[in-house]
Amino acid sequence: MATPASAGAGEETALCDVLVVGAGPTGLTLAAQLARFGVRCRIVDSSTDRARESRALGIQPRTLEVLLALGIADELVRRGSPNTRLYVHRRGGRVTSSPMFDIGVGDTAYPFLLFLAQSETEAVLIDRLASDGITVERNTHVQELDDNGDHVTCTPRNRDGATQLVRARYVVGCDGVHSTVRSAAGIGFAGGRYPQTFLLADLAVAGLEPDGIHVYIGPSGPLLFFPLKVPAPWRLITVRPFWTAPAGEGGQLTTAVGPVTGTELSDLVAAATNEPLQLREPVWATAFHVSHRHASTYRRGRLFLAGDAAHIHIPAGAQGMNTGIQDAVNLGWKLALVLRGSAPSQLLDSYDAERRPVGAFVLRFTDRAFTVVTSDRSFLRAIRTVVAPRVLPLLLRSRVGRRVAFRTVSQLGITYASSFAS
Ligand SMILES: Cc1cc2nc3c(=O)[nH]c(=O)nc-3n(C[C@H](O)[C@H](O)[C@H](O)COP(=O)(O)OP(=O)(O)OC[C@H]3O[C@@H](n4cnc5c(N)ncnc54)[C@H](O)[C@@H]3O)c2cc1C
Repeated sequence: MATPASAGAGEETALCDVLVVGAGPTGLTLAAQLARFGVRCRIVDSSTDRARESRALGIQPRTLEVLLALGIADELVRRGSPNTRLYVHRRGGRVTSSPMFDIGVGDTAYPFLLFLAQSETEAVLIDRLASDGITVERNTHVQELDDNGDHVTCTPRNRDGATQLVRARYVVGCDGVHSTVRSAAGIGFAGGRYPQTFLLADLAVAGLEPDGIHVYIGPSGPLLFFPLKVPAPWRLITVRPFWTAPAGEGGQLTTAVGPVTGTELSDLVAAATNEPLQLREPVWATAFHVSHRHASTYRRGRLFLAGDAAHIHIPAGAQGMNTGIQDAVNLGWKLALVLRGSAPSQLLDSYDAERRPVGAFVLRFTDRAFTVVTSDRSFLRAIRTVVAPRVLPLLLRSRVGRRVAFRTVSQLGITYASSFAS
């Protein structure tokens, strides 16, 4: 079904039903969903290879549910580590351990948070696409798009400069934060960038209980360890502390995205945990900035947005990749029914109506959580260092608190009851 990306300069290819721009987890899921319904789709990506880093690592119960119909949920579970326990470490060595996903998830076949590196998730999706005869057309960069009213044209280019003319009934931008499709559609992406720098490392750690998530609430913010299998036993994530620029250089708070060294990680872990943890064999470490931005609409004419192209936020609570995958599943079946003539084209408007409020909620929820756990304002710092260490263990012991928390994080509470399409 896929057309090779090696078409000659300016060569025109047949009209396809859907062009998916971007082969991250969102685009791959969308292409798989379209293929499942027999839609003629193509999926292109600028990169020459799939992601090899672990990146997003948590797969929520609701995501496994929606991937069940694609026949890959069990393969993801087989490759990943189901996690059901949370350890909250307080300064002074006290630890509260609590089950996760034990309450409020009785209506799912997947009552756990699955840890699996994004590289593995993408590999499973690529295999699924291959079984439908679809290959990602790599080294194919989409630059400009023209929505003609009844179809869209674009001229993707490869690194040698060769182009092809592609025509598609619909184009979906799953092309990440710097989305070309979003720009071409003239869709706003309001928000901002957090001043903090995140640090992330995949490594081995000696001294941690192996079966859960470990949260340390330090004076300058949280430090977390998540269990992984591949490419390393643990993922460490924290925020690099601020440094104050010397007087005369603005005296402003700022952080830099410099290289991450083993010494820096060890020092941060020692300061936050006060425990004799030993970090070993890091296979990947990186520092990065995070923004919070939301597209003003997920659709303009025949152009749609999904995943990071539509919403970005801090990687708290394993929401980002999950939200993108669920966007893709929601849009995929609607495009299929409309293209088949089994539903009116207005059905496509329900995509924005249903999924944009979900994106807005995730942005609000992650922004508030992040502000409380990192703010330097004295009131919020007091909440973090004095109140939270006392209240969090109580909340985790409370059945009601656990139910609300895990129902929200697992995304099982998402409903489209007020949508005109339901
Ligand atoms: C270092 C790092 C750590 C992260 N950690 C977490 C985490 O712990 N938890 C979490 O939930 N999320 C995390 N994320 C975010 C998560 O990786 C993203 O939410 C997820 O990848 C979004 O998937 P996507 O398919 O929407 O976009 P992407 O994965 O960004 O994929 C977009 C694709 O589009 C392609 N593309 C872009 N422009 C074009 C174009 N013009 N033409 C053709 N192709 C194009 C790109 O090559 C890319 O392959 C992390 C991200 C990074 C970078």
